[in-house]
Amino acid sequence: MNYYVLTLFPDMVYNGINHSVIKRAIHNNIINIKCINIRDFAQNKHNQVDDYSYGGGAGMLMKPEPIYRAYKSINKNARVLFMSPQGKKFNQKMAKDLSKESDLIFLCGHYEGVDERIIEEIVTDEVSIGDFVLTGGELPAMMMIDAISRFIPNVLGNKESFLNDSFSDNLLEYPNYTRPLIFNGKKVPEILLSGNHKKIERWKREQSIIRTYEKRRDLLDIDNLSYEDKKFLDEYIKNKNK
Ligand code: SAM
Repeated sequence: MNYYVLTLFPDMVYNGINHSVIKRAIHNNIINIKCINIRDFAQNKHNQVDDYSYGGGAGMLMKPEPIYRAYKSINKNARVLFMSPQGKKFNQKMAKDLSKESDLIFLCGHYEGVDERIIEEIVTDEVSIGDFVLTGGELPAMMMIDAISRFIPNVLGNKESFLNDSFSDNLLEYPNYTRPLIFNGKKVPEILLSGNHKKIERWKREQSIIRTYEKRRDLLDIDNLSYEDKKFLDEYIKNKNK
Protein backbone atom coordinates (compact mmCIF):
# COMPACT_ATOMS: atom_id res chain seq x y z
CA MET A 1 0.00 0.00 0.00
CA ASN A 2 1.30 3.42 -0.93
CA TYR A 3 -0.16 6.30 1.04
CA TYR A 4 0.33 9.81 -0.36
CA VAL A 5 -0.46 12.68 1.98
CA LEU A 6 -1.03 16.15 0.54
CA THR A 7 -0.27 18.44 3.45
CA LEU A 8 1.27 21.73 4.55
CA PHE A 9 2.83 19.95 7.54
CA PRO A 10 4.70 16.84 6.33
CA ASP A 11 6.83 16.60 9.48
CA MET A 12 3.73 16.38 11.62
CA VAL A 13 2.65 13.31 9.66
CA TYR A 14 6.08 11.66 9.44
CA ASN A 15 6.80 12.23 13.13
CA GLY A 16 3.33 11.24 14.25
CA ILE A 17 2.95 8.01 12.35
CA ASN A 18 6.45 6.51 12.39
CA HIS A 19 6.20 4.48 15.60
CA SER A 20 5.52 0.96 16.83
CA VAL A 21 3.55 -1.32 14.47
CA ILE A 22 3.37 1.25 11.66
CA LYS A 23 7.11 1.95 11.88
CA ARG A 24 7.76 -1.79 11.55
CA ALA A 25 5.40 -2.01 8.55
CA ILE A 26 7.23 0.87 6.85
CA HIS A 27 10.61 -0.72 7.66
CA ASN A 28 9.42 -4.04 6.17
CA ASN A 29 8.18 -2.27 3.01
CA ILE A 30 4.61 -3.42 3.54
CA ILE A 31 3.38 0.13 3.55
CA ASN A 32 4.95 3.28 2.23
CA ILE A 33 4.04 6.82 3.32
CA LYS A 34 4.98 9.79 1.18
CA CYS A 35 4.06 13.32 2.19
CA ILE A 36 3.81 15.92 -0.54
CA ASN A 37 4.31 19.43 0.78
CA ILE A 38 1.67 21.57 -0.90
CA ARG A 39 3.80 24.66 -0.26
CA ASP A 40 6.43 23.28 -2.66
CA PHE A 41 3.86 23.76 -5.42
CA ALA A 42 3.06 27.41 -4.70
CA GLN A 43 4.27 29.47 -7.63
CA ASN A 44 4.40 32.95 -6.15
CA LYS A 45 7.03 35.06 -4.49
CA HIS A 46 6.14 34.23 -0.90
CA ASN A 47 5.09 30.61 -1.45
CA GLN A 48 1.61 31.65 -0.47
CA VAL A 49 -0.86 28.74 -0.24
CA ASP A 50 -3.85 30.48 1.35
CA ASP A 51 -5.98 33.51 0.65
CA TYR A 52 -9.09 35.39 1.79
CA SER A 53 -12.55 33.97 1.04
CA TYR A 54 -14.64 35.61 -1.66
CA GLY A 55 -17.71 37.12 -0.06
CA GLY A 56 -15.93 37.65 3.24
CA GLY A 57 -15.89 35.41 6.27
CA ALA A 58 -13.39 34.64 8.98
CA GLY A 59 -10.08 32.94 8.28
CA MET A 60 -8.08 31.96 5.25
CA LEU A 61 -8.71 29.26 2.67
CA MET A 62 -6.22 27.01 0.94
CA LYS A 63 -5.86 28.01 -2.70
CA PRO A 64 -6.73 25.40 -5.34
CA GLU A 65 -3.75 25.60 -7.73
CA PRO A 66 -0.92 24.48 -5.36
CA ILE A 67 -3.07 21.54 -4.21
CA TYR A 68 -3.84 20.64 -7.82
CA ARG A 69 -0.19 20.73 -8.85
CA ALA A 70 0.82 18.71 -5.77
CA TYR A 71 -1.85 16.14 -6.61
CA LYS A 72 -0.76 15.94 -10.26
CA SER A 73 2.84 15.33 -9.17
CA ILE A 74 1.76 12.01 -7.63
CA ASN A 75 0.65 10.83 -11.08
CA LYS A 76 -1.50 7.96 -9.77
CA ASN A 77 -5.03 7.00 -10.60
CA ALA A 78 -6.04 6.52 -6.96
CA ARG A 79 -8.89 7.44 -4.65
CA VAL A 80 -8.44 10.90 -3.12
CA LEU A 81 -9.74 11.14 0.43
CA PHE A 82 -10.41 14.65 1.61
CA MET A 83 -10.27 14.91 5.41
CA SER A 84 -13.35 16.94 6.26
CA PRO A 85 -15.77 17.35 9.17
CA GLN A 86 -18.48 17.36 6.48
CA GLY A 87 -17.52 13.89 5.18
CA LYS A 88 -18.85 10.40 5.72
CA LYS A 89 -17.96 9.20 9.20
CA PHE A 90 -14.92 6.90 9.22
CA ASN A 91 -15.38 3.46 10.77
CA GLN A 92 -13.84 0.00 10.91
CA LYS A 93 -15.69 -1.22 7.84
CA MET A 94 -14.42 1.71 5.80
CA ALA A 95 -10.88 1.00 7.06
CA LYS A 96 -11.17 -2.62 5.94
CA ASP A 97 -12.53 -1.68 2.50
CA LEU A 98 -9.81 0.93 1.93
CA SER A 99 -7.10 -1.56 2.92
CA LYS A 100 -7.78 -3.40 -0.37
CA GLU A 101 -6.55 -0.44 -2.45
CA SER A 102 -2.92 -0.31 -3.56
CA ASP A 103 -2.61 3.50 -3.50
CA LEU A 104 -4.50 6.08 -1.47
CA ILE A 105 -4.18 9.85 -1.56
CA PHE A 106 -5.09 11.92 1.50
CA LEU A 107 -5.82 15.62 1.20
CA CYS A 108 -5.38 17.50 4.48
CA GLY A 109 -7.12 20.84 4.74
CA HIS A 110 -5.95 23.58 7.10
CA TYR A 111 -7.07 27.06 8.17
CA GLU A 112 -10.76 27.44 7.19
CA GLY A 113 -10.46 24.58 4.70
CA VAL A 114 -9.94 24.43 0.94
CA ASP A 115 -11.41 26.14 -2.13
CA GLU A 116 -14.55 24.19 -3.09
CA ARG A 117 -13.39 23.74 -6.69
CA ILE A 118 -10.46 21.51 -5.67
CA ILE A 119 -12.92 19.17 -3.97
CA GLU A 120 -15.01 19.03 -7.14
CA GLU A 121 -11.92 18.53 -9.26
CA ILE A 122 -9.91 15.79 -7.52
CA VAL A 123 -11.70 14.37 -4.45
CA THR A 124 -13.39 10.96 -4.65
CA ASP A 125 -14.33 10.57 -0.96
CA GLU A 126 -14.92 13.11 1.80
CA VAL A 127 -14.19 11.52 5.16
CA SER A 128 -14.73 12.76 8.71
CA ILE A 129 -13.32 11.25 11.87
CA GLY A 130 -16.14 12.59 14.02
CA ASP A 131 -18.49 15.45 14.73
CA PHE A 132 -15.92 17.96 15.91
CA VAL A 133 -13.63 20.42 14.14
CA LEU A 134 -9.83 20.11 14.21
CA THR A 135 -7.31 22.65 13.00
CA GLY A 136 -6.13 20.42 10.16
CA GLY A 137 -6.57 17.12 8.34
CA GLU A 138 -3.18 15.72 9.39
CA LEU A 139 -4.40 13.95 12.56
CA PRO A 140 -7.40 12.44 10.73
CA ALA A 141 -5.09 11.20 7.93
CA MET A 142 -2.74 9.64 10.49
CA MET A 143 -5.63 7.98 12.29
CA MET A 144 -6.99 6.58 9.07
CA ILE A 145 -3.59 5.31 7.88
CA ASP A 146 -3.15 3.56 11.22
CA ALA A 147 -6.59 1.94 11.17
CA ILE A 148 -6.39 0.93 7.48
CA SER A 149 -2.89 -0.51 7.83
CA ARG A 150 -3.96 -2.94 10.55
CA PHE A 151 -5.99 -4.79 7.89
CA ILE A 152 -3.08 -5.15 5.47
CA PRO A 153 -1.56 -8.64 5.56
CA ASN A 154 1.63 -8.91 7.66
CA VAL A 155 1.29 -5.45 9.23
CA LEU A 156 0.25 -7.05 12.50
CA GLY A 157 2.63 -9.72 13.76
CA ASN A 158 1.68 -13.33 14.56
CA LYS A 159 0.70 -12.48 18.06
CA GLU A 160 -1.47 -9.53 17.03
CA SER A 161 -4.70 -9.83 15.14
CA PHE A 162 -7.63 -7.69 14.15
CA LEU A 163 -10.03 -10.63 14.14
CA ASN A 164 -11.11 -10.24 17.75
CA ASP A 165 -10.85 -6.47 17.81
CA SER A 166 -13.86 -4.42 18.70
CA PHE A 167 -16.31 -3.90 15.81
CA SER A 168 -15.45 -7.13 14.01
CA ASP A 169 -18.71 -9.06 13.91
CA ASN A 170 -20.51 -5.96 15.26
CA LEU A 171 -19.28 -6.75 18.75
CA LEU A 172 -16.88 -5.09 21.17
CA GLU A 173 -13.90 -7.09 22.34
CA TYR A 174 -14.14 -9.16 25.54
CA PRO A 175 -12.15 -8.11 28.67
CA ASN A 176 -8.45 -9.07 28.67
CA TYR A 177 -6.10 -9.92 31.54
CA THR A 178 -2.35 -10.41 31.91
CA ARG A 179 -0.05 -11.05 34.88
CA PRO A 180 -0.17 -10.70 37.85
CA LEU A 181 -2.88 -13.24 38.65
CA ILE A 182 -4.14 -11.04 41.49
CA PHE A 183 -4.03 -7.24 41.30
CA ASN A 184 -5.32 -5.09 44.18
CA GLY A 185 -7.27 -8.12 45.41
CA LYS A 186 -8.91 -8.72 42.01
CA LYS A 187 -8.29 -12.15 40.51
CA VAL A 188 -8.28 -13.03 36.82
CA PRO A 189 -11.56 -14.87 35.95
CA GLU A 190 -11.19 -18.58 36.80
CA ILE A 191 -12.32 -19.77 33.36
CA LEU A 192 -9.22 -18.24 31.73
CA LEU A 193 -7.00 -20.46 33.91
CA SER A 194 -8.96 -23.64 33.12
CA GLY A 195 -7.02 -24.64 29.99
CA ASN A 196 -10.34 -25.60 28.37
CA HIS A 197 -10.04 -23.73 25.08
CA LYS A 198 -13.56 -24.41 23.91
CA LYS A 199 -15.05 -23.06 27.11
CA ILE A 200 -12.69 -20.09 27.07
CA GLU A 201 -13.74 -19.20 23.50
CA ARG A 202 -17.40 -19.43 24.52
CA TRP A 203 -16.77 -17.23 27.57
CA LYS A 204 -15.03 -14.62 25.40
CA ARG A 205 -17.92 -14.61 22.96
CA GLU A 206 -20.44 -14.17 25.76
CA GLN A 207 -18.41 -11.37 27.34
CA SER A 208 -18.30 -9.62 23.95
CA ILE A 209 -22.08 -9.87 23.69
CA ILE A 210 -22.58 -8.52 27.23
CA ARG A 211 -20.12 -5.68 26.65
CA THR A 212 -21.75 -4.65 23.41
CA TYR A 213 -25.20 -4.83 24.95
CA GLU A 214 -24.10 -2.71 27.92
CA LYS A 215 -21.81 -0.21 26.21
CA ARG A 216 -22.85 0.05 22.55
CA ARG A 217 -26.32 -1.40 22.08
CA ASP A 218 -26.53 0.47 18.75
CA LEU A 219 -23.88 -1.90 17.32
CA LEU A 220 -25.60 -5.17 18.21
CA ASP A 221 -26.96 -6.93 15.15
CA ILE A 222 -29.30 -9.33 16.94
CA ASP A 223 -30.60 -10.92 13.72
CA ASN A 224 -27.10 -12.06 12.88
CA LEU A 225 -26.39 -13.67 16.26
CA SER A 226 -26.45 -17.46 16.38
CA TYR A 227 -29.26 -19.28 18.17
CA GLU A 228 -26.87 -19.98 21.06
CA ASP A 229 -25.83 -16.31 21.27
CA LYS A 230 -29.44 -15.09 21.21
CA LYS A 231 -30.40 -17.55 23.94
CA PHE A 232 -27.49 -16.37 26.05
CA LEU A 233 -28.42 -12.70 25.57
CA ASP A 234 -32.11 -13.37 26.41
CA GLU A 235 -31.03 -15.11 29.63
CA TYR A 236 -28.65 -12.27 30.48
CA ILE A 237 -31.35 -9.63 30.02
CA LYS A 238 -33.88 -11.69 31.97
CA ASN A 239 -31.47 -12.13 34.93
CA LYS A 240 -30.53 -8.48 34.82
CA ASN A 241 -34.15 -7.37 35.03
CA LYS A 242 -35.00 -9.72 37.93
N1 SAM B 1 -14.49 25.43 7.95
C1 SAM B 1 -14.53 24.00 7.85
C2 SAM B 1 -15.95 23.49 8.14
O1 SAM B 1 -16.62 24.07 8.97
O2 SAM B 1 -16.35 22.49 7.51
C3 SAM B 1 -13.58 23.37 8.88
C4 SAM B 1 -12.15 23.61 8.56
S1 SAM B 1 -11.06 22.88 9.70
C5 SAM B 1 -10.72 24.19 10.78
C6 SAM B 1 -9.58 22.70 8.80
C7 SAM B 1 -9.34 21.33 8.20
O3 SAM B 1 -9.22 20.39 9.25
C8 SAM B 1 -10.43 20.79 7.31
O4 SAM B 1 -10.33 21.27 5.99
C9 SAM B 1 -10.16 19.30 7.38
O5 SAM B 1 -9.16 18.90 6.45
C10 SAM B 1 -9.63 19.11 8.80
N2 SAM B 1 -10.66 18.61 9.74
C11 SAM B 1 -11.20 19.27 10.77
N3 SAM B 1 -12.07 18.53 11.45
C12 SAM B 1 -12.09 17.33 10.86
C13 SAM B 1 -12.81 16.12 11.09
N4 SAM B 1 -13.69 16.00 12.07
N5 SAM B 1 -12.58 15.08 10.27
C14 SAM B 1 -11.69 15.18 9.25
N6 SAM B 1 -10.99 16.29 8.97
C15 SAM B 1 -11.19 17.35 9.75
